[in-house]
Formats: sequence, structure tokens, C-alpha cells
Amino acid sequence: MLANFNYHCPHCQTQLNKGSQIEFLVGYKDHQKTPLLLSKEPGVYGYRSKHNLVIENGDKVDFYCHSCEEPLQSLKRPGLVEIQIWTDDAPYLDLFFSATCGERLTYVEMEGELMRFGSDFFSIMKSRA
Ligand SMILES: [Zn+2]
Repeated sequence: MLANFNYHCPHCQTQLNKGSQIEFLVGYKDHQKTPLLLSKEPGVYGYRSKHNLVIENGDKVDFYCHSCEEPLQSLKRPGLVEIQIWTDDAPYLDLFFSATCGERLTYVEMEGELMRFGSDFFSIMKSRA
């Protein structure tokens, strides 16, 4: 069921997912914005990048919308990335996930409270490739 949600930029409302992947731009170390893909299937770990980016556990990554390039760092929840979950073409929930590689923290906000959202979902994990 989770796999049927769509994920959108909170700034420009562009849909971020294509097929089973969610596309972001990330800035990391050299601060160049580089495309990075996360799976939207729960339980699928790891990121894919077209760049020879090596993200190690504990590294913090800056996320940006791939369309408007606005930063996705949450102002409400510092340290977390904020995007929107849409269902039926309308905003449904705010989704927050950790910008730190290896931290499996994903939340949705419901009635002002953060609820855990699949502990193994949406984390940037070190690639096993
Ligand atoms: Zn955007």
C-alpha cells in the first residue's frame, strides 16, 4: 500500500517519484548538487547515484528538490528532510526522514505528532554494491 503513495516537493509540488524510485538532488562534501535515487519500496535499502558519490554511515547529506532545487531540510523539524505524501492527487501527510546516512528514522506527522513510519523505510543506507 505504501508503494502506491506519491511523494511531492513541498515547495513546487513536483512529483518526486518515478516508477519505484524517488529522485532527489543531494549536496555532499563538495556541495555540488548530484542526482540521488532512493527506493520507495519499504525494506529496500541503499541509494543509487549517477555520480561516484560515496556516502558513509554517519554522514549528513543536504537534500534538494530535483525540479525547483529548493532545499528540503525541514524548518519545523531540524535535522530531518521534509517532503509530502500525496494520495488521490492531493497532499495527505508530511513525511520526515533523517538526512544522516545509516539513521533509520522516518516519520509522518499526524495531528501534530510525529509517528514512526516503517523503521527500515526511506533511510539512506550505505550501498552494498
Ligand atoms: Zn520543488
